[in-house]
Formats: sequence, structure tokens, C-alpha cells
Amino acid sequence: MIVVMQKDATLEQINHTVKRVEALGLKSHVIVGTERTVIAAIGEKREEMKEALESGVGVAEVMPILAPYKVASREVKPEPTMVTAGSLRVGAGKLGVIAGPCSVESEEQIVSTAHAVKAAGATALRGGAFKPRTSPYSFQGMKEEGLKLLALAREETGLAVVTEVVSTDDVELVAKYADVLQVGARNMQNYRLLEAVGKSHRAVLLKRGASATMDELLLAAEYILNEGNPNVMLCERGIRTFEGHTRFTLPLASIPYLHQKTHLPVVIDPSHGTGHTYLVPDMAAAAIAAGADGLILEVHPTPETALSDGYQSLTFDQFAATMEKCRKHAAALGVTIDSNEPATAP
Ligand code: PEP
Ligand code: MN
Repeated sequence: MIVVMQKDATLEQINHTVKRVEALGLKSHVIVGTERTVIAAIGEKREEMKEALESGVGVAEVMPILAPYKVASREVKPEPTMVTAGSLRVGAGKLGVIAGPCSVESEEQIVSTAHAVKAAGATALRGGAFKPRTSPYSFQGMKEEGLKLLALAREETGLAVVTEVVSTDDVELVAKYADVLQVGARNMQNYRLLEAVGKSHRAVLLKRGASATMDELLLAAEYILNEGNPNVMLCERGIRTFEGHTRFTLPLASIPYLHQKTHLPVVIDPSHGTGHTYLVPDMAAAAIAAGADGLILEVHPTPETALSDGYQSLTFDQFAATMEKCRKHAAALGVTIDSNEPATAP
């Protein structure tokens, strides 16, 4: 249920209502909006609860939440959410660009990439240290050594670090180094991992499973939100279809669809979504045209020597050209790509 507080409800009345929600055995999530505060009361609902809460001082109305996901829904929070993690801002009018290699491979590789993507305008650095590979014989990532190199690249450039966590056992370790915990497509329905990142204080980039529906994606996000972590970005990275000309099929309709259903920001991954470098720039621009709140792009100093996903990675020059193209598309739409320059005083 959503307990909608009156516009002039006091903090005391809000706190009192939270206590009453919890006394009914429900979990409460307080969402402070620009207009008014609402309390999402989650748990098994009984008819008499609605009446009991509705009679509370400062309460305007109590309504059922119709969507299967609750805290993620627009019904609970009509205003879009902006997720902030260090230099990265995504959502509610901020369009952030996350760029970097599929995997961290060496100091030289990650630090040079961080400088190059920053110079071209990226607001965060990506790089996998723990890699979920289809084959156990493929490169599995540099693990903690890779996390240390990401932290070094952040120190040198100021870019926030986005990196994947593949196991609940590693959440604490990865959270020590990362600004954003990426939950990969293969783990979208690893519910214990979702709970663990929900308990961490880091922002989360949740990638859509290759065969997951939108409702399944939103319910996966709900696991994270339900643990008290509100900083969730949804990532469309393409789904598996009968089509073979691209690695996955990138459905950009996910952007306006998700915007209608949830307040959480939507990031598009045209690298995994197409699987071919030459398709990435156009799909990045198309994602912006469809209203994406962020992009995540694979960039490598020498894609042909990459230990993973070289065939879909941009070179530094290709990334700079992609950013230029995206800026032009964004400008035509009256949208601004967020800058990584520190704000200067007027
Ligand atoms: C990645 O970002 O490198 C990755 C493994 O992505 P996904 O989980 O979308 O396959
Ligand atoms: Mn990859």
C-alpha cells in the first residue's frame, strides 16, 4: 500500500505513521517527493490495515500499489530518481556516460583508457575485475589486483568506478574499491546477490538478463530497493532472439516503457546490445534519442588484443567520435550530456 501524507504533514506525523506501519508488521520505505511524502508499506495486506492507517493524523489517503514491484514503481514515486556515485550522475535530467574496457588487463591499459575516456567526456570508468565468462577456460579477470588498478585509475582521473560483482562472497571486497556495483545479465535473478548489494551502501547498475522480461527486471530491482538501497540504475543490454546478425537484440523501447513504469534511471549498453563495434555509435545516439539516462560503452586501447569483447569495443578515437555524435543528437533534442568538468563558479 502507499500511505500518502498530507502536503503539510510534519516530520513528527511522518515518523509516527512509519511506526504505525511497522507495528502492523509491514516494512516501510519513506519517499520524500517534491510535492509530498509517501510511505510505501510493504507486506501482506489486510483490509483493516488500510482503514487503520487512513485514520492517522497527517495522512491524506491510503492506496493499493497495483504493480507487482512496489518501491520501484512510478505509483509510489512519480518523480524520476537521480543516482549519484562520485563523478557519475544518471537520471532526472542527468545523462552520464560510463566507458572503459570489458576487463581490466593491466595498469597501462586501464589508466590510459581512463584518461582517454575522460578527455572525450565520460563521467565514469567501467572495467571488469571479476568476469562472468561463458567458458571456464576464458579469462576470468584480475580479481582484487584489477580492483586496485581501477582505484588507481580513479585516483588519477577522478572518474567513478563501475565494476561487476559476481558472487555474494565478493560484495564487501568489490564495494571497498568500486563506486558502482554492476550486477551482470547472468546474475540478474541471483536473488541472494541482489539482497547483498541491496545491503551495501554502493549504487548498483543492474543489467537485464538476456531472457528476462521487464517485470522480472523490475522485480530484481525491487530486491535491491527492499534492502534499503535506493540507488539503482537499470541497464538494457540486449536480449536473446532468433536474430543472428547482432550478438543480442537491443530493444530501445525498453527506455520509454521503463520510464512509464518506474522512477529508476535507464542506462543503455550498445556494446553488448549489438556485439559489433561498427554498430555501437549509431545505437548510442539512438538510445539518447529514445530518452536514455545513461550509456555504458566498451572502450579498449587496442581492441584486437583485448582479453574479452574486443569485437564490440571502441578505440579511443572511435569513442571520442561517438561522444561527438551523441552530443549533436542530444543537442538537437535539447538534452545535455553530463560533463566531467568540476562546476566552475560564475
Ligand atoms: C560486461 O559488462 O562486460 C558484461 C559481462 O555484461 P553483461 O552482464 O550484460 O553480459
Ligand atoms: Mn563485456
